[in-house]
Amino acid sequence: MSQTLKNYINGKWVESKSSQLLDVINPATGQLLAKVPAGSEEDIKDAAEKAHNAWSAWRNTPATQRIQYLFKMKQLLEAHSDEIAEICTRECGKTFPESKAEITRALENIEVACGIPKLLQGDFSEDIATGVDEFYIRQPLGVGACISPFNFPVMIPFWFMPYAIACGNTYIVKPSEKVPMTMVRIFEIFEELKLPDGVLNMVHGGRETVDAILGNPMIPAISFVGSTNVAKYIYQTGVANGKRVQAQGGAKNPVVVMPDADEETTVKIITDSAFGCAGQRCLAASIVIMVGKSPAGFIDKIVNTAKSRKTGNGMSAGIEMGPVITKENKERIEKLIQKGIDDGARLLLDGRNIKIPGGEGGNFIGPTILDNVNIESDIYKTEIFGPVLCIINTDSLEEAINLINRSRYGNSACIFTRNGAAARKFRRETVTGNIGINIGIAAPMAFFPFSGWKESFFGDLHGQSNHAVEFYTQTKVVIERWHDEWTRKF
Ligand code: NAD
Repeated sequence: MSQTLKNYINGKWVESKSSQLLDVINPATGQLLAKVPAGSEEDIKDAAEKAHNAWSAWRNTPATQRIQYLFKMKQLLEAHSDEIAEICTRECGKTFPESKAEITRALENIEVACGIPKLLQGDFSEDIATGVDEFYIRQPLGVGACISPFNFPVMIPFWFMPYAIACGNTYIVKPSEKVPMTMVRIFEIFEELKLPDGVLNMVHGGRETVDAILGNPMIPAISFVGSTNVAKYIYQTGVANGKRVQAQGGAKNPVVVMPDADEETTVKIITDSAFGCAGQRCLAASIVIMVGKSPAGFIDKIVNTAKSRKTGNGMSAGIEMGPVITKENKERIEKLIQKGIDDGARLLLDGRNIKIPGGEGGNFIGPTILDNVNIESDIYKTEIFGPVLCIINTDSLEEAINLINRSRYGNSACIFTRNGAAARKFRRETVTGNIGINIGIAAPMAFFPFSGWKESFFGDLHGQSNHAVEFYTQTKVVIERWHDEWTRKF
């Protein structure tokens, strides 16, 4: 009998009011791991009410005390990282080292949020007129919520939650229904924190839970990460309901290779970037744009390096790439590959029909590379979110930048070159929120915002660092007059 997951509301594990259950499947084996509730409006209503009730005492707890819970949170997550990484790998499919790496990213965000007493500071101007001072303070908003995608079950809620609660908000985490077990285990471990009841809550589910969050008047701020169409829907609906929303969407990240790029580094980084996490990363390289005449044998080296990548169950030692998340995603990706070939691309490496010993029930696709990709085809324009790399050629850096700037997405773009002027031009003129120069995954550290432009992001303030602090607080401006003569009376 598989376990049915519970919500965590007001310091207790409670059953969902929804009777509909969804399967949580190990993507490497097809094995049923657990059942997760599809979610209900009542679950969110309950969590929002309890979080709202807890808010007053929590916001009145000094920031210096609130962060004591975060120091402990960091220690607990670190101490249990192997166990958490194992659950993450089983339900999400990525390799065990990849799961460990995302836990490190979560830890770094907790560390930055521990600086909240400083990050939360306002600003003060004395004597804006005679005897008049003006300043602003930052105050929390109330109950915040985050809705996360399947591909980083640990890291993504930590782009928001530690900052939100450190700022004095209470919080609801809605994990992806495809990978809810990792966050359940994290919440079990966090019971040791002894946070006041209602400060940190978790509600499971899919669309119904999300719609309940969007419609709940007690939740003024929502952080979302997921695909672009859903991000747009969440942003538009949330904003129409008067909420503050930050919604990070999908991506299609290009890597520009200049003729002078260092071959060894570039080949290694491109293959890691394209095929790490089976291409299921919003910062994965999915298009290589070769500028000018590519050095002899360069493409062959990318193909050979990709071919040597060991695909299999992420829990097995030496495996470098796991499966994709669901059978439907595997089918969708395979269809896109075929469509790309039909639209004129040359298939250099075919990961379809890969055979993994013992992985017959899994959703495996091996590294796939297509050259001469037609820029009007779906394979070029659509986010594939799988281990597929497309290669195209341009005559100049200008042309490469123009192509990138025409994309609907603007998450990240990278360039490989030894030429400082080319790198500078690329950095200045490329319309994406994250830029990598001789770097394949331009993932901002926790003390920088996770930027993203165009249809890769809807909103103003991003996740992580001071952006998360600004998002989860509102500024109150105070103008004061204290006459000397009043003081002298006492
Ligand atoms: P998804 O959009 O399917 O789901 C994300 C969340 O939205 C889940 O919690 C899900 O329950 C909910 N959801 C799904 N459909 C919904 C609907 N119709 N209405 C309301 N809620 C809905 O995304 P996914 O497949 O879980 O994750 C992969 C996507 O996330 C990719 O597009 C990837 O690029 C993106 N992503 C972006 C970033 C970033 O920082 N920009 C980071 C990670 C992942």
